[in-house]
Amino acid sequence: LIFDVDGTLTDSAGLTRVALERAAREIYAIDNATRGITAYGQTDVNIFSEILVNNRLAVEDFEDHFTRFTGRYVTLLEEILFASPRPRLQPGVKDLLLRLVRESGMNMVLGTGNIEPGARLKLKRHGIDHYFPTGGFGSDSGVRADLIRIAYERGCRHFGIPFPLKDVWVIGDTPNDVAAGRALGSKILAVATGMYARAELETCQPDALMDDFSDNDRFIDVIRNG
Ligand SMILES: [Mg+2]
Repeated sequence: LIFDVDGTLTDSAGLTRVALERAAREIYAIDNATRGITAYGQTDVNIFSEILVNNRLAVEDFEDHFTRFTGRYVTLLEEILFASPRPRLQPGVKDLLLRLVRESGMNMVLGTGNIEPGARLKLKRHGIDHYFPTGGFGSDSGVRADLIRIAYERGCRHFGIPFPLKDVWVIGDTPNDVAAGRALGSKILAVATGMYARAELETCQPDALMDDFSDNDRFIDVIRNG
């Protein structure tokens, strides 16, 4: 199972944006740096590129700037996430992860546009980081389909199993997750806990679609029986 983070497992209550904007203010002296940028289903690299373009910041060494920016962003994100009572898990997630491991023996990895330290913080905030030994991240690629493939390959290597793609599920809350799963050739489970309504996700034709994960039994049934 390749799980997305934002909108799928967690709701960071807009605090990602707060951390991004604070980092941009400190490093580039710009306010409201993420205005007009849609972060949903995006990767951190793309969000940073858009911040630069939208604010007319011409940088010579993108990699260097990205490393510096994300370094500060991660420090701020940790402070902000852990100081606030607002971040929460999506409905049913905590019980679901426990059941997937204990009862179903499922192998789980992350597939997220977050850079790895950012993704880890968002999960650690709720004590669910340990369920995901590896994954594909926004720090691996700015292209979602690529990082989902990396998640799959690392999962096979980590667990020592060449998982047939027909048994692999990409689980996410945006049309971009669905497209990335399709590019990989896996099954796709879309969940309407993020910014996209059920009807919008339906038009992307995922293999399964759920309103949220509060019905753990149904999730497990879908994964087991296609
Ligand atoms: Mg998401």
